[in-house]
Amino acid sequence: ANSIGSAGVSSCVRVAVRLRPLSAKELLDGGGAPVVDAQPSQNAVIVRAADPLQPHASGHPAAARIFLFDDVYAPSDSQEAVYTRSVKPLVDCFLSGFNATTLAYGQTGSGKTWTMGTGLEASSLPQELQGIVPRAIADIFSSLALKKQQPTFSFSVHVSFLELYNEDFIDLLNPRPRSAASSSSAASFAPTIREDAHGNIIWTNVREEPVSSPKELLSCLQRGSLCRSTGSTDMNASSSRSHAIFSIILKQNITEEFFTQNSASNIPDASRHADSPFLEPNPKQTTQKSLVSKFHFVDLAGSERLKRTNAEGDRKREGISINVGLLALGNVISALGDESRSSTTTHVPYRDSKLTRLLQDSLGGNSRTLMIACASPSESSFGETVSTLTYANRAR
Ligand code: ADP
Ligand code: MG
Repeated sequence: ANSIGSAGVSSCVRVAVRLRPLSAKELLDGGGAPVVDAQPSQNAVIVRAADPLQPHASGHPAAARIFLFDDVYAPSDSQEAVYTRSVKPLVDCFLSGFNATTLAYGQTGSGKTWTMGTGLEASSLPQELQGIVPRAIADIFSSLALKKQQPTFSFSVHVSFLELYNEDFIDLLNPRPRSAASSSSAASFAPTIREDAHGNIIWTNVREEPVSSPKELLSCLQRGSLCRSTGSTDMNASSSRSHAIFSIILKQNITEEFFTQNSASNIPDASRHADSPFLEPNPKQTTQKSLVSKFHFVDLAGSERLKRTNAEGDRKREGISINVGLLALGNVISALGDESRSSTTTHVPYRDSKLTRLLQDSLGGNSRTLMIACASPSESSFGETVSTLTYANRAR
C-alpha cells in the first residue's frame, strides 16, 4: 500500500473516511449488499460496483477501485475509535497553543452530524455514542484542570457558533430575526472577517460567549443548534444547505517569575524562600505569557448540492454559494497537501470563499486540520459516495 499512496506524508492536513452502517430503510430497500467496503487495516476504501455512468460489458465483473486515506473507519467502528485516532492529536495541539480544524464532509444523511456529535439529541445519548465535539470538550477541560493545579497557570475559554448560508454569516449565539438580517440597517451588525498584519483572522460582530465548564459549553452548542433548526422547517433542510462552524477559543496565561540581575547568584536561595519577604534580597518580577488558540468544528453543507450544481448548471444563488465554499475548501486542502508533499510554496486560494477565509489561520501553517468524509455504503448512494471519495482523495 505504501507504494500507491502517500498516507501520513501530509502531517498538517489529514483526511479520514467513515462509512456509516446501512440504515433500516436502506436495508429494506434491498440495497442491502454494500457496494463500498472499508478496509481500516489498509486505510483503504474499496468500491466494488461499476460506475453506473460507465457501464461495463455484461459478463465482466466490475473492476474494484481502491481509494487510500490517512484513516478509514468501517460501519462497525465506534465513536470513540474515530475520536481517539483522528481527533485527539488535534486536541493535544490545540492545548499546546496551535489552531485546529475538524471538518465533516458528505452528502446529507451520510453521518456528518452524528460523527461531530452536535445533533439536537446529542446530550441525551449515552456516553459511548457521543461524537467528536462532546469528547473534545471533556478532554480539553480535564487537561486544563490539571494544568490549573500550577498556581502560575490560568485560562479562559470562549465559544462561538456561526452558520454560513448563501455566503452570509448568521451568529447562532446572537441571532437576529431573519427578516432583519437582510435589511440594510442590520448590515452593520452582520459578522465580518478580516486579516490582521500577523495573518490572524479577526472577526467582528461575532458573539464569543465565556464558558467555564463542559456543561456550559455544551449548552451553547445546544442553543445554537436549536437556533439553526428553527430557521427552517426541519433540521436536515437547514443543514443540507449551510455550513455550521462551532469554535472554541482558548486563552492560556502563564505567569513567569524572575529576579533582578544583581541577585542572580541568590536565585536558588531566593526562590526557596520566595514566600518570606525577609529572606528575599530583591523584589520578584513577573511577566505574563499568553497563548491563544482556536479549534473549529465544521459541519459542512451537504455535498449533493455541489454535484447537482455541477451537473445541471444550476444558477440559483444558493447552489452557487455552497458550490463556492465546498469547491474552495477542496482547492485549499489540496494545495496544502501539494505544499507538504513537495515542500515548495504553493498559492493557497483562501480568498475564494467566506468559508476558507474564516478558517484561513486554522488551515495549514502551524495548525492541524482533519477532514472526515462521511459516506453510506449502500447501493442507492453509490454515485454520491464515489463523488465524496473522489473529493476527499483529491483533498489528500
Ligand atoms: P448528516 O448530518 O450527514 O446529514 P446524520 O449525521 O444526521 O447525517 O446521519 C443520518 C442518520 O444516520 C442519523 O439518524 C444518524 O443517527 C445515523 N448515523 C450516521 N452515522 C452513524 C453511525 N456511524 N452509527 C450509527 N448511526 C449513524
Ligand atoms: Mg447533519
